[in-house]
Amino acid sequence: MPLLEVGKLKMSRGERVDFYCLEKLPPLSVEGEDIKFAQEVEYRLSLTNADDAIVIDGMINVDLLVQCNRCLDSFVYPMEAHFQETYCDSNFSQPGGKQPDWVPFSGDQIDIAPEVTQTILVNLPMRFICRADCRGLCSVCGADLNNNQCQCTRDELDPRLAKLKDLL
Ligand SMILES: [Zn+2]
Ligand SMILES: [Zn+2]
Repeated sequence: MPLLEVGKLKMSRGERVDFYCLEKLPPLSVEGEDIKFAQEVEYRLSLTNADDAIVIDGMINVDLLVQCNRCLDSFVYPMEAHFQETYCDSNFSQPGGKQPDWVPFSGDQIDIAPEVTQTILVNLPMRFICRADCRGLCSVCGADLNNNQCQCTRDELDPRLAKLKDLL
């Protein structure tokens, strides 16, 4: 879990520190399926004491282990995502200074894991395709058409056209 030490930063207004680390995250749960990380998550962040709050800003790099939607092969999907969150300590911020989207924390450490997970989730593509020209699986025998060309005669008709053909 990426825990950021902010005890010292909280004491000095306007101060900015850089933070770099590699750390693991637990698998993401996406629509009931687990997406694992191929390796540790890379965090390149800066932490700023912005009077009422700690602003954390930077990039996170992840390599996700995903399955191609066409050929079902596993592959590594690299993602670089912009991370920006504002964390406020209730003892530290001025009354009325809080904004609704600020994330509360207490003590001298901030666990950014929930927001990192959220950032990755919002940056996920609709579909994972292992490569632009992935040919997928044969709809008849299930062969991986990237590796072998089966002898099946596949109906290449658009399913909507196929329906029309049935009607005629
Ligand atoms: Zn594929
Ligand atoms: Zn086939």
